[in-house]
Amino acid sequence: MIIAIDGPAASGKSTLARALARRLGLTFLDTGAMYRAVTLAALERNLSPAEGAECAALAATLRLGFDPEGRVLIEGEAGEPAIRSGEVTRHVSEVAAHSGVRRALVEAQRAVAAAAVEAGGGVVAEGRDTTSVVFPEADLKVFLLASPAVRAMRRAAEEGRPELAPAYEADLARRDAHDSQRADSPLLEVDDAVRLDTDTLSPEAVLDRAAALAAARRPG
Ligand code: C5P
Repeated sequence: MIIAIDGPAASGKSTLARALARRLGLTFLDTGAMYRAVTLAALERNLSPAEGAECAALAATLRLGFDPEGRVLIEGEAGEPAIRSGEVTRHVSEVAAHSGVRRALVEAQRAVAAAAVEAGGGVVAEGRDTTSVVFPEADLKVFLLASPAVRAMRRAAEEGRPELAPAYEADLARRDAHDSQRADSPLLEVDDAVRLDTDTLSPEAVLDRAAALAAARRPG
C-alpha cells in the first residue's frame, strides 16, 4: 500500500506520516530529509545551492539510506540533526528546485516504495510532490493544511522558544512561496487528495482520520 501526504512546511506531515506508518506496519518515507541531505552534502563540499548541474551530479551519486526509524543516512552516517540546521533550512528550497536533483531523488523514493511493496508492505511518504509526481497512483492521498501563524507557533514551541514564532512565520512563508512557485513539481493540492486541517484537529484526531481512510482503501 502506498500513502502519500503533502502540505506546506511545518503542517504536521512528519508527525502524521511517522505515526501512521507505525500503526499500519508500513515504511515511513521522509522525502524532505532527502532534499535536506543533498543540501547538507552540497554545503559541506562548498558547492553553490544555485549550481543546478553540480547539485544534480551530487544527488545522483550520494548514497542515501534510512535507519529502521526512518531517519536519513548519508553515506551510511546519521544525517540528523545536521540536516535540520538553520543553514540547511535556508538553502534547501533552492537546491530542491533543480530538476536534476528532483529526478535523482524521485527515482530513489520510488525504489524505496517498490522494495517495501515487494516485501509485502508499503510506504507512508510525505513531502511536497508525493501526491502529484512521485506516487500519482497512491492508494490514499492526504493534503495537510495549517495556517502560517499556527505552524510557526508550533515550531517555536517545539524548540522551547515561543518568542521566535514571528521570525519562524516569515521563514516558513518564504519557503512556502519558493516551494509553491517553482517550475518543476511545485507544492499543490491535487484533486483526489483528502484535505485535513490541523489548525482545528489534534494530532491524534488527524491520525485517526487518516488511519480510517487508509483502512477503507487498503488493497486486497
Ligand atoms: O519537509 P521538509 O520541510 O523537511 O522539506 C525541506 C524542503 O525540501 C522543502 O522546503 C522543499 O523545498 C523540499 N522538498 C521538496 N519536495 C519534497 C519534499 C521536500 O521539494 N517532496
